[in-house]
This record gives sequence, structure tokens and C-alpha cells, in this order.
Amino acid sequence: MQTPEVRDIARLERTGAHSHIHGLGLDEKLQPVGNFQGMVGQAKARRAAGLLVKLVQDGKIAGRAILMAGGPGTGKTAIAMGMTQELGKDVPFTMMAASELFSLEMSKTEALTQAFRRSIGVRIKEETELIQGEVVEIQIDRSVTGVAAKSGKLTMKTTDMETIYDLGQKMIDALSKEKVVAGDVITIDKASGRITKLGRSFTRARDYDATGPEVKFVQCPEGELQVRKEVVHTVSLHEIDVINSRTQGFLALFSGDTGEIKPEVREQINTKVGEWREEGKAEMVPGVLFIDEVHMLDMECFSFLNRALEDQLAPIVIMASNRGMTRIRGTKYKSAHGIPADFLDRLHIISTSSYSEPEIKEILKIRCTEEDVDMAPDALEVLTKIGTETSLRYAIHLITTGSLVAQKRQATAVDVSDIKRAYSLFLDEKRSVQYLREYQDQYLYNEAEQAPPAAS
Ligand code: ATP
Repeated sequence: MQTPEVRDIARLERTGAHSHIHGLGLDEKLQPVGNFQGMVGQAKARRAAGLLVKLVQDGKIAGRAILMAGGPGTGKTAIAMGMTQELGKDVPFTMMAASELFSLEMSKTEALTQAFRRSIGVRIKEETELIQGEVVEIQIDRSVTGVAAKSGKLTMKTTDMETIYDLGQKMIDALSKEKVVAGDVITIDKASGRITKLGRSFTRARDYDATGPEVKFVQCPEGELQVRKEVVHTVSLHEIDVINSRTQGFLALFSGDTGEIKPEVREQINTKVGEWREEGKAEMVPGVLFIDEVHMLDMECFSFLNRALEDQLAPIVIMASNRGMTRIRGTKYKSAHGIPADFLDRLHIISTSSYSEPEIKEILKIRCTEEDVDMAPDALEVLTKIGTETSLRYAIHLITTGSLVAQKRQATAVDVSDIKRAYSLFLDEKRSVQYLREYQDQYLYNEAEQAPPAAS
């Protein structure tokens, strides 16, 4: 009998094209900082994007549409990612190419509605129920704010017994030594154990927020102190729709086979979420919908977007185009980026320009760090030259392929020869066109102009 082979499966780590972007790289005055949060150059576009983020955060705009216009690889997607990161951790970001709407499975407007609802988050707050004596986990950062009660009795729920004893003791000390009375708010610094009386008094637990993350001390009717943990989940409206649209809706979420969702289901969800908002159980988080290749949308889609953006709960729609004057899909009319003039008029247009050599070098350096690639300084110089002469994206791809070539010769750092090898193995756009021109005869269905056959 053969023993089955046991294989050690190494964890596959993938690095996304924009995983190095952690924000727009702006200071508090919204001015771009040289190389910050993975962002380099494109100062004007970043400043404009930052301003829009600020307006959204201040609640001044909803349902705005932004157009990022610029040549290929000039950071349109990167800036859109940066905007989302600035908006907050649990802000939904949906990315799609306009061509994805033209599938046979559902109508374009249904696909757009789903994309809109995927980009709207619902932050649901849940307080875990307190069962005396039961042990659940609580996390306490630096300090905890509590309401002192007369009795000084403390009930806590945590898996960390040390925390229970430590904080419990401090709370009881506080009650006896500091002459804290019912209703007072006290803060205990976890590290030093110092107790500060905030002197604020309130009657209901929900009148204040604990300074410790997600931890609340609630004054219960008997005058005891109890600890409750507040758990916050953010789900998208689309996820709620899917779960409620079918008996086994949550399974559809995993398979992605959600199908069309009935308008009645959406209406019911909107009403329910509205109730949660009123009860203080949930808040809405309008996110970002990024539509790439916007010239692929047709008039029906633009008209849908026009109306959908008016909705109070609309996400911010960021579109990107690397096209100039082009035909509006399905019509014979040409317009800027293939977008109808009336729709163009409602957009905030941010343009991106091509990068200078030092900027390309800086971006490539960031990508090397991100991909954990040790690149020799002269190899980086060569790569930068390639980036300026071909494209930034092609040069970024050579980091990965160059590092594979280096690994093959068991070297730890990528040198010039590895970059040259990778460059010779993979064609960039210009060389690919050149190659096709030279060898077009060897391809099937070649439509390039052929010289007429010579008369015999
Ligand atoms: P396309 O029109 O072809 O879709 P794009 O304008 O959306 O291109 P991106 O995909 O954003 O270009 O940029 C190409 C690569 O360069 C990505 O990996 C991106 O993260 C990176 N990049 C672009 N601009 C910057 C920047 N200013 N700072 C850091 N990285 C950048």
C-alpha cells in the first residue's frame, strides 16, 4: 500500500497592482506630499481628489460623479483607490469595467443597480448581550471610560482574566478612594492605572461613547457596572438584497450567481434599513463605484446614471477614460471620451498627465518594495529608462518577471542582466506592433493591407 504523498503547500501571496496605495498622500492642508502613502507626482489631480474627499466627508456632497481623464497608466485607478482609502476603512469600493454591463445574464440597468448597491455600506451596530458570569472577549486599548455606581460592584465579560482583575480592582478602588458617585464618568488609564474624573454626568448609557474601542460600561438599574461589547459590521446593501432575495441567498453571495433581484425586495430592504437608522442601530456609508473604460457605456446606461445619481443614497461614481474624442456607443455621434455632452456637464473632471523620469523611478522603487524584490541600483536605472520609453505599466511588469529570472539563477537581487532578459522575453506595445508588421503574413485572418498580387 502506498502512503499518500503529503505536500507542504506554501501560502500563495498575491500583490495587487495598487496594493502600495494607502491614501492620496496629502497633508492636513490637502497639499500633496512628495512620496507619501505610496503616491508619487500627479500633484494637481491628487489635490482635486482630496478636495472632493473632504466635501464627501463633510457631508456636503452625495451622488457626485467624477471623471478621471488621462492617458493609459497615468494613475487614474490609483487615485480612485487613494480616494477610497481616505474615506475610511470600511467604505465600500466597487470596481468594474463598463464592458461588464453587457452580459446576457441580466439587463444593463439591473447590473448597474447592483453595482450601485454594492457601493453603499450599512454599518450595523450590535451590542452583545450580557449574561452574568459568562466570559467573552473585550479589547481595551489605552483607557476605559466607565460610569461609577454607588455599589461599586463590577460585572465584566472577558476571556482575559488578568484584565478582569486588573480593571475590576482599579474600578473598585476608584469608587472607594476617589469618592466617585453614581453617574460620574471616570477614565482609567490601563498602563498607569491613573484615574481621571471627567466630571460629566449623565443618566443613560447611550449619552456617551467609551474611549476604549468598542467597549461600553453601562449603568444597570441595580446600580451595578456592567461591560458590554459593541460589535460593528459593515455590509453592502447588495449583500442584504441577495440574502433576502432567495431562500439560500447567502450561498449565492459566495457563488456570485445572484441573478436579477426583484424591485419589491429592494423596497423592503430600504424600509428595513431606514427603520434601523431611526432606531440608531445602523448608519449608511456611501462608498465609491469605479467604472473603468467609460466610453463602453451606451445612452441607456448614461440616462440610468443621470437618474440614479440624484438618489439621496447614491455612492460617489468615479469614471475613468483614456480615450479622446470618440463615438458614443450605439450612436453615430462623437463626443469627448464617448460621453454625451449633458452627462459630461454634471461631472467633476480631473485630468492626469504623464510622469517624469524621476517620478517613474520613484513609483518603480515603491513597487519593488511592495513586491519584496531587491533591485540593484543600476537595474533600477535601466528599468526607469524602459519605463520612460515604453510605459510605466510595462516597466512594473518587468519587476516581477525580472525577479523570476533572478530567482532562476539563484540570485537574491535583480541585476541589469535579469531586466534585459525579461525585456527580451516579453514584448512591450511598440515592439509588439513592430513584430506584427514584420511577420503579419504568418498570422491567420490578417487584415493589414496586402500588396496586390503581381500580374503574371
Ligand atoms: P488605464 O487608462 O490603462 O486604465 P490608469 O490611468 O488607470 O491606466 P493605473 O492603473 O492607476 O493607471 O496605473 C498603473 C500602475 O502604476 C498601477 O500599478 C498604479 O498603482 C501605479 N501608479 C500610477 N500612478 C501612480 C502614482 N501617482 N503613484 C504611485 N503609483 C502609481
